[in-house]
Amino acid sequence: LIRLEQVTKRFGDHTVLDRLDFSVDAGRHVTLIGPSGSGKTTILRLLMTLTKPDEGTITVAGRRLFPAPEKQVREVRKQIGMVFQQFNLFPNMSVLRNITEAPVTVLGMAKDEAEERARDLLELVGLADKRDARPTQLSGGQQQRVAIARALAMRPKVLLLDEVTSALDPELVAGVLDVLRDIARSTDITMLCVTHEMNFARDISDQVLMFDSGRVIESGPPEQIFGEPENDRTREFLSAVL
Ligand code: ATP
Repeated sequence: LIRLEQVTKRFGDHTVLDRLDFSVDAGRHVTLIGPSGSGKTTILRLLMTLTKPDEGTITVAGRRLFPAPEKQVREVRKQIGMVFQQFNLFPNMSVLRNITEAPVTVLGMAKDEAEERARDLLELVGLADKRDARPTQLSGGQQQRVAIARALAMRPKVLLLDEVTSALDPELVAGVLDVLRDIARSTDITMLCVTHEMNFARDISDQVLMFDSGRVIESGPPEQIFGEPENDRTREFLSAVL
């Protein structure tokens, strides 16, 4: 569903991704792990078109995201939702409106339909009773669950998750993980996650990619990567973080 071919990304004279080939099949739940600065977040930002590659091609669901004409980029981009470390909710809108805003303005969905769907999504993330609240009235974990509902409201094929639990107090992490686990089980959405939390990676993913210096140095199911890593760098990294 997602394919990066020979993607190079530089910041100044620092090459973060060097002719990276990388793909994610439809319906997979893939987690990127690896040392800080290895380029994991950059991959998500490229897919969100928040930054552009210097070279290479990016394809999503068979259509070019890069290089591509602006109109096509906008179309392809609609299939991708993202949840950030900081929830980035609209502070002066109700929870419900945070979720309905983009479907109505970007997809042209009727307001009633968007609200009905938002109510279903709030049910899914366990916040049906908070629909009229403002984001500031919610805990960090609740805000993150709203952000997940907001991303899903656009019916994306792909959900990108960037360190979604790392800004949360430890006691709020479990609730967010439960919601993501539910979504992983109950939908056919493709997930690509970046995380420093190995339990999250183990829990959510069916494939773990170990990243180092802009390259995938090892990949496999979580049992293999966490249980019997083959690569020395993977072993070293895991013994430092586990
Ligand atoms: P972390 O786990 O710390 O988030 P990461 O593996 O996600 O790390 P990236 O955030 O992708 O790594 O960053 C890769 C490298 O690119 C880092 O060395 C970072 O300093 C650099 N970098 C990222 N964004 C920019 C930018 N806008 N300008 C300059 N350098 C950048």
